[in-house]
Amino acid sequence: MSASAPITQDVLTIPRKAPEGPMNIVGLTRPALRDALIATGTPEKQAKMRVGQIWQWIYEKGVRDFALMTNLAKGYRAELAEHFVIEVPEVVSRTVSADGTRKYLVRIAGGHEVEVVYIPESDRGTLCVSSQVGCTLTCSFCHTGTQKLVRNLTAGEIVGQIMIARDDLGEWPELGRAPKNETRLLSNVVLMGMGEPLYNFDNVRDAMKIAMDNEGISLSRRRITLSTSGVVPEIAKTAREIGCMLAVSFHATTDEVRDKLVPINKRWPIKELLEALKSYPKASNSERITFEYVMLKGVNDSDEDARRLVQLIKGIPAKINLIPFNEWPGAPYARSDWERIEKFADIVYKAGYASPIRTPRGEDIMAACGQLKSATERARKSRAQIAAEAGITD
Ligand code: SAH
Ligand code: SF4
Repeated sequence: MSASAPITQDVLTIPRKAPEGPMNIVGLTRPALRDALIATGTPEKQAKMRVGQIWQWIYEKGVRDFALMTNLAKGYRAELAEHFVIEVPEVVSRTVSADGTRKYLVRIAGGHEVEVVYIPESDRGTLCVSSQVGCTLTCSFCHTGTQKLVRNLTAGEIVGQIMIARDDLGEWPELGRAPKNETRLLSNVVLMGMGEPLYNFDNVRDAMKIAMDNEGISLSRRRITLSTSGVVPEIAKTAREIGCMLAVSFHATTDEVRDKLVPINKRWPIKELLEALKSYPKASNSERITFEYVMLKGVNDSDEDARRLVQLIKGIPAKINLIPFNEWPGAPYARSDWERIEKFADIVYKAGYASPIRTPRGEDIMAACGQLKSATERARKSRAQIAAEAGITD
């Protein structure tokens, strides 16, 4: 482990409540909402019931206006409007790919922008949600990692992304007629957008708790996948406090290569990461861990890598998701050839692991994995700088 590993967490976290002005209800967990209602005058005895009523309007029906909450007394609605707002981030633009993928550019407080991607498939619709503006980590193959400015998203801004997508998909059901998971347009959420979710743990946890609440958005924890680059100390906490499915950006089979691709490896190398992953499925009651493996030509895609990979993960219930590298301007890597990817997949498959090759979606609108980077933060490091940080010399 290197003491000089470039791992920072010096991100801005904006407070939930501005010192003056109303508080946003979106992003408050049930207990936090209860406390906030009591603090603003709701009698303690009524608070639980009021939470339930407000919750249903916001998260089941998609209502954003207290005046429409007809099962609350008019006076109480006015009081709520004095102290609270119901706010989701603003959609600045929506781009639709030839393959149906939708990319939303979303503006959050402070004028920052993040990207959210909706991927329709035959048996599901997946929303790829961002957890930070940019990312403090500097994985050398990832466009987001080249973005300098970083701030943590609030819980409201994270769950708000799901609400925005439901608005756009027209998917707010009538009360009591929520569609079953299987028939929903938005049936799955992956925390695979911009940012490292485990460097914004509390907000991600609260947002997912709201999304999983079965009287609201009601996504099963098995339909939520959190992807981490390997923040080892937070993995057990994720099992305990969120319990969703876990994906890990593995990407290499030796510390030497992983140090270059995923620099957080210098802090928590492969052995420590695997130890943490071993107990995850049991602790979280989830079935398998997804190992994400980006296929980079000549870097991590040999037969030897494939064999080492299956050796390393022995004993962990796993599937290996092979991601053909998605290019972005100035990227210091190339995508592995298709035959190479198939050969790699075959070795992994023969060792007994599912090894799907992830079809790049929305490439024409720069919406594919690792291509996200907000338009306001175009300032990009030079090709040479990226290569130098990745330890690549040619
Ligand atoms: N920060 C988290 C989640 C966001 S990235 C993480 O790193 O896990 C989602 C996935 O896309 C990760 O596995 C990431 O390594 C991968 N990825 C990043 N850039 C990519 C690129 N250019 N091509 C393909 N996959 C990429
Ligand atoms: Fe951050 Fe994930 Fe990109 Fe690495 S791959 S820079 S952790 S968003």
